[in-house]
Amino acid sequence: MGTTRTAEAEAPRRLEETAVAGLRRVLTGEVIGPADDGYDAHRRVWNGSIDRHPALIARCRGVDDVRAALRLGREQRLPIAVRSGGHSFPGLSTCDDGLLIDLRLMDGIRVDPDARTSGVQAGVLLGELDAVTQRHGLAVPAGIVSHTGLTGLTLGGGIGWLQRKHGLTVDSLVSADVVTAGGDVVRAAEDENADLFWGLRGGGGNFGIVTDLRFRLVPLGPQVMAGATFWPIAQAASVLRRYRDWIAGCPDELMTLLVQRLAPPLPAVPAELVGQPVIALVACYAGDVDEGERVLRPMRHLGAPVLDLFAAKPFTVHQQMFDPSFRHGCWYHVRSCDVAGLSDDVIDVVVEHGRRISSPLSSIALWQMGGAVARVGEDETAFTGRDAGFTFNINGNTPTADGFEEQRQWARDYWSALAPFHTGVYVNFLMEEGDERVRQAYGPAKHERLRALKRRYDPANVFRLNQNIPPD
Ligand code: FAD
Repeated sequence: MGTTRTAEAEAPRRLEETAVAGLRRVLTGEVIGPADDGYDAHRRVWNGSIDRHPALIARCRGVDDVRAALRLGREQRLPIAVRSGGHSFPGLSTCDDGLLIDLRLMDGIRVDPDARTSGVQAGVLLGELDAVTQRHGLAVPAGIVSHTGLTGLTLGGGIGWLQRKHGLTVDSLVSADVVTAGGDVVRAAEDENADLFWGLRGGGGNFGIVTDLRFRLVPLGPQVMAGATFWPIAQAASVLRRYRDWIAGCPDELMTLLVQRLAPPLPAVPAELVGQPVIALVACYAGDVDEGERVLRPMRHLGAPVLDLFAAKPFTVHQQMFDPSFRHGCWYHVRSCDVAGLSDDVIDVVVEHGRRISSPLSSIALWQMGGAVARVGEDETAFTGRDAGFTFNINGNTPTADGFEEQRQWARDYWSALAPFHTGVYVNFLMEEGDERVRQAYGPAKHERLRALKRRYDPANVFRLNQNIPPD
């Protein structure tokens, strides 16, 4: 991760003015230095607790811009951060005193509704892609917050509302165009640089800068049966046990997330509930709306709900449901782990630690895995953990620095209490947790395979500001 690991990296030089002037001349995008307008806005990432100051920001508009920026970064021996949506939890898409290659201006989307494919540039956000594909009743299976970057999400695997029916985001990936550490442009697909294609589907940004992605599209909606039902925390234990039994017989079209949080001050939430700890079941049915209504009906009897927001709605609306809970600039800390199932012991931990939530922004999301995710072989892609039963995402968050340490500790304590049940971790939900944790995320055999790939595509570890696979 942020540590230096190569001779090239160990001897940073002062950024030469002439080199910067040269980049300004050739880039069709923008070059922004600390003295330029917009520097402060563009250096910031989604997580407000990350406050880094790059020496230079190259806002690229195309592949040639990316190559020119990379060349400068290497010649000037700068640490190089690559940013698409800027939603890395630990802020790996920015850096201090280095070069930030920002791809957000590369936001082109092409949809071929007949072939059911989409070509997407690297800077596109999930909501932007959904808006275009949903006009045709199609979608790329991706994540659950519309302002997340598609490329970083894809490179880690991509879990979301459609995963149980249609698989991970990487399972819909057809090809990716990549600028390698040496500045070459290569395409990776099943029949072209297949080793790289394998590594890009879960191995993160270790192998080069992805500029374009091509996806197969799946049919969806545009109306879906989706929403959330809330119960007071006092009912959590019985709701969780009944939930566990109920979902065991549900079809793959149904994807559920359990959420624990303080009830938010929204118009739909009764005043006496606001600020109280609740447990909610949030779901999306990726199929016929009436069928979804029928499948979801028993869910309402898992307990005595205090609020029921399920309805037929556009998928694009459901996709924005969590957006206000994860606003840009707040302070975020996440801990994550996979577990095999919701045993009574796991449920006890969930109930106990759910009661202790004390920030309006802290929450947990417990992701139901399985279905199509588990039907792809573990070795077919670099993504690891296809057999996970559930994925925990424990968020200790605050609007500002105020109280952040306490929430971070809450998340750590929750995660530690689950330690006896950990089976793995999704690499896109890691903070900066050290090399050993990255190795654990992939398991020793896959990690070794990824290292061999890294030695082939990036032996000098130019791309090391990520969940790093060290070449040596
Ligand atoms: P960035 O912060 O831009 O980059 C993240 C990492 O990827 C960095 O190391 C960066 O260098 C590398 N990278 C980015 N772009 C490129 C590129 N073009 N080429 C090479 N390397 C690159 N994950 C899910 O699977 N499902 C979810 O539903 C989900 N929801 C989320 C909601 C929120 C609010 C947040 C903050 C995260 C969520 N995540 C989810 C995790 C998410 O997948 C990762 O944070 C992901 O890295 C975000 O992608 P990005 O493009 O915004 O990343």
